[in-house]
Amino acid sequence: MYCEKCGQGNDDNAFRCVKCGEIVQILPVAQAVPQIEDTAGMRMLLPVGRSMWAIAAGYVALFSVLILPAPLALALGITAVVHIRRNPGLHGMGRAVFAIVMGALFSMLLIMCVIGILTG
Ligand SMILES: [Zn+2]
Repeated sequence: MYCEKCGQGNDDNAFRCVKCGEIVQILPVAQAVPQIEDTAGMRMLLPVGRSMWAIAAGYVALFSVLILPAPLALALGITAVVHIRRNPGLHGMGRAVFAIVMGALFSMLLIMCVIGILTG
């Protein structure tokens, strides 16, 4: 595209005129296209940049209400936290903590049930 100020021909993706520095378009093309990885909404739907352990922990944690998978959720949650700590770029800490809380809670219930069965 051509600069409106000085008439210099610029690259179509150019943000500023290479000759005079005039802004030739409001947004560079690269910036106008939404970055899928950077939108929080997509992050909720797609496992982009999230620890696989956190995803596994999150799903197992949901099944912790059935009590039996609770120790697995706890273990996966802890694994996820360690994994995310070692890879600071990864997301999923919320899920990992959720898995630990759910896992710990229902593991206690499981232990109480086992004790109840053994002593009952
Ligand atoms: Zn110009």
